[in-house]
Amino acid sequence: MTTDLDVLIVGAGLSGIGAAHQLQAAFPHRTYTILEARDAIGGTWDLFRYPGVRSDSDMHTLGYRFRPWTDPKAIADGSSILRYVRDTAAEAGIDRHIRFGHRVVRASWSSADARWTVSAVHDGRPVTLTARFLYLCSGYYHYDAGHAPDFPGSNDFRGTIVHPQHWPADLDHAGKRVVVIGSGATAVTLVPALAETAAHVTMLQRSPTYILALPAVDKLANRLKRVLGARRGYFLTRWKNVLLGTLIYQLSRRRPAVIKAMIRKAAIRQLPDGYDVDTHFTPRYQPWDQRLCLVPDGDLFATIRAGRATIATDEVESFTETGIALRSGASLEADVIVTATGLRLLAFGGVELAVDGRAVELPKTMAYKGMMLSGVPNFAFTIGYTNASWTLKADLVSEYVMRLLRHMDAHGYDQCAPANDDSGVTERPLLDFAAGYVLRSIDEFPRAGSRAPWQLGMSYAHDVVRLRHGRVEDPEMRFSRRPARVEADA
Ligand SMILES: Cc1cc2nc3c(=O)[nH]c(=O)nc-3n(C[C@H](O)[C@H](O)[C@H](O)COP(=O)(O)OP(=O)(O)OC[C@H]3O[C@@H](n4cnc5c(N)ncnc54)[C@H](O)[C@@H]3O)c2cc1C
Repeated sequence: MTTDLDVLIVGAGLSGIGAAHQLQAAFPHRTYTILEARDAIGGTWDLFRYPGVRSDSDMHTLGYRFRPWTDPKAIADGSSILRYVRDTAAEAGIDRHIRFGHRVVRASWSSADARWTVSAVHDGRPVTLTARFLYLCSGYYHYDAGHAPDFPGSNDFRGTIVHPQHWPADLDHAGKRVVVIGSGATAVTLVPALAETAAHVTMLQRSPTYILALPAVDKLANRLKRVLGARRGYFLTRWKNVLLGTLIYQLSRRRPAVIKAMIRKAAIRQLPDGYDVDTHFTPRYQPWDQRLCLVPDGDLFATIRAGRATIATDEVESFTETGIALRSGASLEADVIVTATGLRLLAFGGVELAVDGRAVELPKTMAYKGMMLSGVPNFAFTIGYTNASWTLKADLVSEYVMRLLRHMDAHGYDQCAPANDDSGVTERPLLDFAAGYVLRSIDEFPRAGSRAPWQLGMSYAHDVVRLRHGRVEDPEMRFSRRPARVEADA
């Protein structure tokens, strides 16, 4: 296998496979490799195996632009998404370019060589590759462990404690009393799935989340695909969903009271008469300050209606031998406790970056168009939207990288790096989102800026204009040739 590459991609998840697909299509003769720390394709969709694991955005926008989602279900289960990513890789022969079990630990750029030297660990041994462009598709969280608060008394509990990130394949929850701690997407997914066979499930939340029911099957999408064909039907549905999502997001930001009332009314309609909606379904924050949780066909509400699950809005005082003592003085009996307490964020898969011998301190860099870093040459990364499907942004980042590489070819450039010389640009967080898991670690990430091109783009339509059609040459992007090449030309 080549060790001096045109492009080195880190990560074989949804983003890495999509990036490789676009790279192959744009430059069939370029050399590239994907280094993947795990032994499988799929990232998130291979790692998470808890009961009911599924997308919480529709697959017409979580799917790739270049490959229609053809499954009739728009909110898909984890295994279907994993199959989709793997099929994409296999059909395009991308799987032959992946080196599994290679954890990238360091990448150093040399301006003299216009090359990255990338160090990985494979089977405990160091492996080194060089590449002209480094493209990180390493996701945004720690794979080793999720966020697990240290609950007092957890050693006393005689039942089983599990974290959704490491669901034991042999855990049998049938007939058991289960308490799920959390109120995010994972908790609301787990509750109805566990309740199918558990004796009872309690979702213990410190504070509520906005929850909205959505049909799992998008009938219009399926009709469009039947009438117009898979590709055109997919294209139209993708835009329909983008526009609908944008409308809800914009209304949430501009007229939060309207959206709050709408979500509350929808919840009341789905819950039993006299249910305490204000305590259990009315968050303290505004819609879209944190991610809105979608529940397919209102499955969570149906489970509550059927008496198979209960919500407790309270706080853990301590774990006990038989369950959880709550701050209110009440207690919950449990055989299994699921700590759906979230992820631990990790910037760039923990890869340490250096440029010409100097370590890159991520919080001192600024993200250019949400996909490159100030002062870091020939480098791009993928972090998806927080208010829309991840892949919408991942696809656009890949398109932009291809345009950038083509532009460099056309002009004989070896290197491109964004630079921020404008002292009027003030710093903003890279993920402008009030969720606990973001607030815990966002300081370790690069910053975004107060104005373009450093501003965090949270609108797909705007990014289509900017990343797909906008000029690649701009005052903040510095293109140059390798010093040796400049001398030779002279
Ligand atoms: C449970 C769950 C549900 C989600 N549901 C949705 C949803 O419905 N909609 C949505 O838009 N988003 C969702 N997300 C966000 C989700 O992570 C993205 O949608 C998407 O899967 C991210 O793909 P990715 O390839 O960028 O990252 P990942 O899926 O995280 O894949 C990254 C890959 O990079 C590898 N890697 C990381 N570091 C290194 C390293 N140093 N060296 C080598 N390899 C490395 C990892 O092993 C992994 O295979 C969800 C996330 C979770 C955790």
